[in-house]
Amino acid sequence: MRKVNLDDFIYDSGQKQSETKAARKFGEKTAKEASYLKPPIDVFSLIENKYGIKIRKISLNDDISAIVDLEQNEIIINEDKPYYHTRFTAAHELGHILLKHKDRKWKEYSSHISDSNPNKPIEEEANAFASGLLMPEYLLKKLASKQTTPNELAKLFEVSQEAMWYSINNYRLLNRFI
Ligand SMILES: [Zn+2]
Repeated sequence: MRKVNLDDFIYDSGQKQSETKAARKFGEKTAKEASYLKPPIDVFSLIENKYGIKIRKISLNDDISAIVDLEQNEIIINEDKPYYHTRFTAAHELGHILLKHKDRKWKEYSSHISDSNPNKPIEEEANAFASGLLMPEYLLKKLASKQTTPNELAKLFEVSQEAMWYSINNYRLLNRFI
């Protein structure tokens, strides 16, 4: 694993938009910088290769989606969760790391992983980051058209249909499909 100084990537909140909007933009910037030209965003490789954090998948209690341990430099993902959920979780944890929300170790409750039902500002921001990273506006705009449907895009981007509909509404792209 490459030695990486995570501080090089930490978010610097210079401008004050709404924090969630800024977090979404930061997620999108992260995808752009990795030069993704088409979906899906390979979030597991990105975390391992760019940030030098190991992804390990094991079976965990159902109410836990992940355990992050930056002392061991790893994110443990609950492999019993649906594939799309594990991807969104990994992106959400990268959000917490880059937005400096947490300390060195934490447990992620499954109830925190969703774009539509946040229960704390930092969870809302981590979800917005994940959403921006996995469904960046520049890729969605390229692909949203009458030739496809939001649910087909969800498959292409490897996200849940719920997450895709949320992003499409957020970027006001629904009229492109009609
Ligand atoms: Zn969280």
